[in-house]
Amino acid sequence: MAHERQGLMRSLFDEYITMYASRDDRLTTRLSDNFSGYAGSSDILVTDKEEWIRITRRDFAQVPKPLHIEMLDLSLQDLSEDILVITAFFHIHLPDPEEILSRETARLVLIFRLEGEAWMITHSGISIPYGLADGGEIYPMTRLEERKRELEQMIEARTQELAEANRQLEILSNTDGLTNIGNRRYFDRVLQEEWNRGHRATSPLALIMLDIDYFKRFNDHYGHLAGDACLQRLAHALCQSGRRAGELIARYGGEEFVVLLPNADSRAALDTARHIQQVLASLAIPHHQTSPSIVTVSLGVASMIPSSDYSPVELVRQADAALYQAKQSGRNCIRSYG
Ligand code: GH3
Ligand code: MG
Ligand code: MG
Repeated sequence: MAHERQGLMRSLFDEYITMYASRDDRLTTRLSDNFSGYAGSSDILVTDKEEWIRITRRDFAQVPKPLHIEMLDLSLQDLSEDILVITAFFHIHLPDPEEILSRETARLVLIFRLEGEAWMITHSGISIPYGLADGGEIYPMTRLEERKRELEQMIEARTQELAEANRQLEILSNTDGLTNIGNRRYFDRVLQEEWNRGHRATSPLALIMLDIDYFKRFNDHYGHLAGDACLQRLAHALCQSGRRAGELIARYGGEEFVVLLPNADSRAALDTARHIQQVLASLAIPHHQTSPSIVTVSLGVASMIPSSDYSPVELVRQADAALYQAKQSGRNCIRSYG
């Protein structure tokens, strides 16, 4: 017997939910004359059957295409001979996919009463725990769309913030903390890029490597902080000295800087090196532990047409060798490789 009643409740519910999901107007014929109901997330009890029929028709008109009801849980209560209570939990998926309503769990309480021969719906209370229904909408589409737009805007804003944060991080990771110019990592990257470009275009790529003369003595005499300030001033002046398009200035290491010159042959690079030497000398930073009594640099210059026989490291090696020659030749001078 109990089993039979279970089956009855199940079939009453299935019939109801099928009509509801398929937007079947016959649903309204199953309402008891003593009907009462709560619609959507409103907490107003409708006790007039005709009013409920109007609400149902508005619901069906607003979303005329079938809904998909994803059942989560069902509870059947056999209250008495003529009263059955069914409580269902489900997700409502509207015909046009949306993410908000379909994620909310709706709870529907249906009370059936045996009236004569037929089980009639005497109460229907659907509750969607989301402050949605309003403005006479059963499914608050306007609110859903607004909310969706809000979420999309939030995502867009977050994406932009993230991109900006990444950009800042990228800049930071490529910048030398003391001098605010490109660091070794940045130089290595640009060197590879320019090498590839020069290789494709068969155009020369030049590198000037410069190293402060007797900088250890400078630090020892004036102090490390003065040494830092000197590095900053030189870096700044180096950047100001730039004359060629696409040239890159970076701090290669301690008191060594590099100037990468795309499209520059040895002569052009040597010319730039001379200019740099003058610019830095014109700063006239006192350094009494050297012969001209100002901070000077030694410069090594190399230029080559990138080819697959070599890697960019070769250009660095040549500039470094030239710099070594400059140091050997007494410092405060320029040497070209080869
Ligand atoms: P040389 O003319 O042969 O280049 O002599 P040098 O003294 O300049 O060369 P050496 O390699 O013996 O010393 C480099 C000095 O540069 C030692 C180190 O303390 C200093 N140095 C490197 N990085 C920094 C820095 O960030 N700040 C300061 N203040 N000094 C630095
Ligand atoms: Mg050095
Ligand atoms: Mg030095």
